[in-house]
Amino acid sequence: MVLDDLGSSLRGTLDTLRGKSRISEEDVDEVVKEIQRSLLQADVEVSLVMDLSDSIKERSLEEEPPGGTTARDHVLRIVYEELVDLVGESTDLPLESQTILLAGLQGSGKTTSAAKMAWWFSKKGLRPAVIQTDTFRPGAYDQAKQMCERAEVEFYGDPDEDDPVKIARDGLDATEDADVHIVDTAGRHALEDDLIDEIEDIDRAVDPDRSLLVLDAAIGQGAKDQARQFEDSIGIDGVIISKLDGTAKGGGALTAVNETGSTIAFLGTGETVQDIERFEPSGFISRLLGMGDLKQLSERVERAMEESMVEDDEEWDPEDMLKGEFTLKDMRRQMQAMNNMGPLDQVMDMIPGMGGGIMDQLPDDAMDVTQDRLRHFEVVMDSMTEEELENPRGIGASQVRRIAKGSGQDEETVRELLQQHKMMAQTMKQFQGMGDGDMQRMMKK
Ligand code: GDP
Repeated sequence: MVLDDLGSSLRGTLDTLRGKSRISEEDVDEVVKEIQRSLLQADVEVSLVMDLSDSIKERSLEEEPPGGTTARDHVLRIVYEELVDLVGESTDLPLESQTILLAGLQGSGKTTSAAKMAWWFSKKGLRPAVIQTDTFRPGAYDQAKQMCERAEVEFYGDPDEDDPVKIARDGLDATEDADVHIVDTAGRHALEDDLIDEIEDIDRAVDPDRSLLVLDAAIGQGAKDQARQFEDSIGIDGVIISKLDGTAKGGGALTAVNETGSTIAFLGTGETVQDIERFEPSGFISRLLGMGDLKQLSERVERAMEESMVEDDEEWDPEDMLKGEFTLKDMRRQMQAMNNMGPLDQVMDMIPGMGGGIMDQLPDDAMDVTQDRLRHFEVVMDSMTEEELENPRGIGASQVRRIAKGSGQDEETVRELLQQHKMMAQTMKQFQGMGDGDMQRMMKK
């Protein structure tokens, strides 16, 4: 992930400010140096880095910290605000009917992003359709079709037609019942004139409400030229930065966004249709700084919970889990939900206090909720009494023996389940603290 190490290195430096009520110029210099190092490593352009450093330095030394704020929180808040300013707003994207055109070079992640976005809109209750106009890249049609099937969204393409403009028009007609039309276009290896001509033709034919440029996070400074060219030809309303999972860079894309006065709409964080996040500047930066992204997390949890809700269980409210005792029944739902939520280390990064290496301190399998394990645990839980499910802490050795026997599992598995419950109950305590995390407390000051 971009600027991955910024959070930990910065936290280390900021920690040296702990207990100080006044900050010296040297203190600020240290902090600024860390930030410069991380940003330059991530390919952010030098002039941007310098501007940012100057602001942080100036503000840290000149602004009077609000009463009761420690030196550390004062600087942290300024760093946070300046970084939020650097990444800019999130692209305006109302949840309503619209046509979105995707542009970008070949391999940037357009086709994948089209399906991901469609999935995202469908989770927001809209009816999306993807129209694949890429007649240039062999396999684009099949890939898009398959991904849309996985995302369970409507798809239009025509492998026998070689005029992309005709496909775009036919596609809009064929999917007129959909609310959100996402038009994927062909890329080339580099910015060739015929690519620009083609996308201008499609742009005229579909008259999109928004045009989004897909940029590979690893692209480096070349992103700037691309962004400018697409901006000049069709106008760019926002950027999707793809493949953030695979790189510590991303600064090139950030620079491009900044240069063209554009904004970031989405982040791509993996190869499956669910690996997409709406870009939220404040959440993104608090996550980088290791403060947890409460909003993203609660969105993901909510979505996963909805998906794993069982029909005969209408009375169950996920909120209860955050309030009261975390039972084995909650754990079962939680594990099912986590299966729907995606890679757990990503989820954990979003929990305040859980980012920044805390995961590394847990045993490797502490949060392992693979299908297999889940199945074994479910069998074990089926052999438990209602009382045991509600109050697993009360389960003693003789009960473990009985449950193991009844479920046909060994005692070790039963104990593992109880151990995992304990770990998860502890994690839930972190969730309970949600809403008054570090950052929020700080921002109120
Ligand atoms: P297109 O030519 O612009 O349509 O690019 P594709 O959508 O075909 O993506 C090119 C490659 O990048 C494919 O192998 C995708 O699976 C991969 N890819 C796209 N987005 C992501 C992402 O966010 N993370 C990772 N790890 N891979 C991605």
